[in-house]
Amino acid sequence: MTQTYENYIGGEWTGSGETQDVTNPADETDVVSTVPVASAADADEAVAAAAEATDEWGGMPGPERGAILRETGEILKSRKDELAETLTREEGKPLGEAEGEVQRAIDIFYYYAEKARDFGGTVKQPSGGRAGLQTKKEPMGVAALITPWNYPIAIPAWKIAPALAVGNTVVIKPAMQAPTVGAMIVEALDEAGIPDGAINLVCGPGSEVGERLTTHDDVDVVSFTGSAAVGEHVYEQATSNGKRAQAEMGGKNPTVVMPSADVDKAADIVGAGAFGGTGQACTATSRAIVHEDVYDEFLDAVVDYAESLEIGNGLDRAGMGPHVSEDELAGSLEYIDIAQSEGATLETGGEELTGGEYDAGNFISPAVFSDVEPDMRIAQEEVFGPVLAVIPVSDFDAGVEVANDIDYGLSASIVTDRIEEENEFIERSESGVVKVNEKTTGLELHVPFGGLKRSSTNTYREQGDAGLEFFSYIKTVYRNS
Ligand code: NAD
Repeated sequence: MTQTYENYIGGEWTGSGETQDVTNPADETDVVSTVPVASAADADEAVAAAAEATDEWGGMPGPERGAILRETGEILKSRKDELAETLTREEGKPLGEAEGEVQRAIDIFYYYAEKARDFGGTVKQPSGGRAGLQTKKEPMGVAALITPWNYPIAIPAWKIAPALAVGNTVVIKPAMQAPTVGAMIVEALDEAGIPDGAINLVCGPGSEVGERLTTHDDVDVVSFTGSAAVGEHVYEQATSNGKRAQAEMGGKNPTVVMPSADVDKAADIVGAGAFGGTGQACTATSRAIVHEDVYDEFLDAVVDYAESLEIGNGLDRAGMGPHVSEDELAGSLEYIDIAQSEGATLETGGEELTGGEYDAGNFISPAVFSDVEPDMRIAQEEVFGPVLAVIPVSDFDAGVEVANDIDYGLSASIVTDRIEEENEFIERSESGVVKVNEKTTGLELHVPFGGLKRSSTNTYREQGDAGLEFFSYIKTVYRNS
């Protein structure tokens, strides 16, 4: 079934004229949805509608805003199967992963529904003569949210829900590769009774709609997730136009494997982190940094893991789905050539899959490279595909150094049975998320998330209470009677 969505501006679904088909990356004959190709003029209209709604939405008591968010969560829950299927059809990830992501979006709406009720300030003791001293939190105003395609429902949810909870109005621009489930969140908010203008959706190219949102005078706060190249530009544009901004970007995430670890368990952890979501996660494990004492054993085990994955259509609950687009597939294949030309050894995979159902999609077999030197491009640059570089190190210190010797700093993990290595890794790891004995992917929604170095502008964090802080400012009140 093909769904049709328009832009949603000021409480109305409105077309832009030009439209685009969103197709299934596992089967190009399957048209998932038709969405508008919005223009800068549509972005202007959406910002105007959002600006007009700030008094009504920002002035509404927090518990009432929370009730609308809770109802939105309920509506998403009632459509969970449909959402998961749509997500798999437009992004490609296996249905089980899509179901998990949709549940996460539902939980995010429930979580921030309660946070809207609790959100407030603090009361302090005033100095002599003054009657009151307190802080009060206020919404920033109009929030522009720009999101990527790889978590097409979770990321819009973790930006929209906190922005709305504290009383901002929102314009969201999802990525054009997978905008449908983001539009379905907006549909649920509409059905839940959100006032006109509080949420607005424009589906359009980043170069036009995204640019306009990040520079528009009436936008107060910009939250971006995507690639480092675009994020750095968005941040520069937004902040030079006086806006509060955050950009969460790419990663090149390591898992260090120490000899005390159960090697099979380590291979399962790394394999799941590297190939889950076809390696298209900002937190995907792309480097296994392995102590030389267990290097060969680990390599054999992780190659077995990769070769055991059944590659196919996510709707059939395959072990790994396709790349989201031909361009992304071409990007991975290019890195596989680069790695080989630099002297890394391709142990398995890395081939475009053809024949039968594969001909209609963007399929690749998961790749494992050995003999990887830390300074090779395959060990330094984000590939954004199912490509794992396995790097040998002689001891723990070398492992930490290789893990840190990188432009990115999003998520890092260690697999070890030694508490002193755990502790030291947590201390020395240059990354926003550090994990022990688990994969670099997978996040809890009620703790902050963000990176260091080129993974984030590191201005604010997302999720948990940090999400509320980004979308609000503090007013300090001195009261005299
Ligand atoms: P992208 O940077 O190509 O696009 C992200 C969004 O920015 C899209 O909506 C796009 O249309 C928009 N955009 C493009 N040009 C723009 C411009 N000039 N101005 C404003 N907006 C513009 O990224 P992508 O390919 O959609 O996503 C993959 C990337 O996202 C990877 O690098 C991945 O690591 C990163 N990512 C990071 C996180 C995180 O939380 N750190 C989470 C998921 C994905």
